[in-house]
Amino acid sequence: MSSESKFGEYGGQYVPEALMPAIEELTDAYERYVLDNEDGFMDEFRQRLRDFGGRPTPLQRADRLSERYDREVYLKREDLLHGGAHKLNNALGQVLLAKYMGKERIVAETGAGQHGTATAMACAHLDVDCEIYMGRTDINRQRPNVFRMRIHDAEVNPVDIGSGTLKEAINETMRDWATNVEDTHYVIGSVVGPHPFPRMVRDFQSVISEEARDQIRAKAGRLPDSVVACAGGGSNTMGAFHEFVGDGDVDLVAVEAGGSGLAIDEEEELAPHSASLSTGDDGVLHGARTKLLQSRDGQILESHSVSAGLDYSGVGPELAHLADEGRVTPVNVGDDAALEAFHRLSKTEGIIPALESSHALAYLEEHPDELGDLVVVNVSGRGDKDLDTVIEESARRNLDAAPTMEVFDGEQ
Ligand SMILES: *Cc1c(COP(=O)(O)O)cnc(C)c1O
Repeated sequence: MSSESKFGEYGGQYVPEALMPAIEELTDAYERYVLDNEDGFMDEFRQRLRDFGGRPTPLQRADRLSERYDREVYLKREDLLHGGAHKLNNALGQVLLAKYMGKERIVAETGAGQHGTATAMACAHLDVDCEIYMGRTDINRQRPNVFRMRIHDAEVNPVDIGSGTLKEAINETMRDWATNVEDTHYVIGSVVGPHPFPRMVRDFQSVISEEARDQIRAKAGRLPDSVVACAGGGSNTMGAFHEFVGDGDVDLVAVEAGGSGLAIDEEEELAPHSASLSTGDDGVLHGARTKLLQSRDGQILESHSVSAGLDYSGVGPELAHLADEGRVTPVNVGDDAALEAFHRLSKTEGIIPALESSHALAYLEEHPDELGDLVVVNVSGRGDKDLDTVIEESARRNLDAAPTMEVFDGEQ
């Protein structure tokens, strides 16, 4: 089976010539092993997702939320996947693919450290060498994840260029890959980058909607009126949507980070949000044409979100296409609403959601009537990783929803 590199006008392979041999080899491997299941690749992948990853993850009725919004609300519990987020679906798929390709070394980028950790975990599981590129600023912000990667025997390479965050880390990893393509595979962390990455990552993440579609039919007797998922690069999003795209009556709602507002500061080259799908302009970043946060001159703007995993200036090209076609509805919610949704789910359902996933839950709170009578929300990950941020940000905003975080002083 051969694969198309574009989604409408988005996607493609906008890469320097030095990267083309790597891209071509990967495209060939993607078509053979993933699309055609050569050597039983997909069977082994699914088997390992079950035995190592703990799939299938449950689809759970949220009793309190269903009552609160007077409709049926179901949660797809990707927070229960090994590692605590949907990221393992992709990391495991790509590291296994690298093994089928005979590659002995994995490189990956990471921003907040979640993708780096998932990749390091998959490499330890499959006994492959692993090097992670991470911006210096991010290393300083995310120390525990640096140790997690090292505990799995991965090497963490600091990137000192530019702002020392995700964008630069991706560039460095591409450079490494182009130089070492002989023995190295680059595990990209979302449905972004040049073809075949957006398609391949989506295919690995589609297990979310494959399961959810069967599960909701078994539990509620029909397809949902809407599926809601947060969108950074958009891998949990495409994973949760893919099997429903052909179901015209199912609304697909992608919730971006509205941060602290949508106004852009052109002078500072700063966007106080990460809503590239709702507000971005067409451009090329990291090898693909997509919707991007840019200045009037076409410079990429730094994005912002209280949740590190949504803090990215671009979005997957397939999502950009589906949004243009009207098949996916892009919406956004701000930092405050996401923090409140975090506390609400923790208090009323006994589930601590990731701050990323809290955006999807916040949209349900703000616009329940737009989602119909039967709603599936993808809980992309668990929020234990976000506790420090949540404690600090909730206190700073005096959030009513937050419990007291005062530490007992030891007096009797
Ligand atoms: C990384 C991450 C995201 C954002 O990535 P996508 O590619 O947009 O899915 C969302 N939720 C969690 C829990 C994450 O770790």
